[in-house]
Amino acid sequence: MRLIQATLREHVMSDATMGSKRTPCPDCHGTGELRIDSENTNEDLEVEKQTVIADCPRCMGLAFFPPDPP
Ligand SMILES: [Zn+2]
Repeated sequence: MRLIQATLREHVMSDATMGSKRTPCPDCHGTGELRIDSENTNEDLEVEKQTVIADCPRCMGLAFFPPDPP
């Protein structure tokens, strides 16, 4: 019985320390980075496609909001 109680308590504590209340950033969908597809037309009128990967400015690349936002 004592063992079961200890296991349950450990589970609750790990949930709290793992930050289960964190909310995945909606801007980057929890990836921490934004992929921006861009098309450039070069001198030969050819379309160059490139993907720019930048840190998500909303969560600063963390992918999650801080546990306790101000
Ligand atoms: Zn983000």
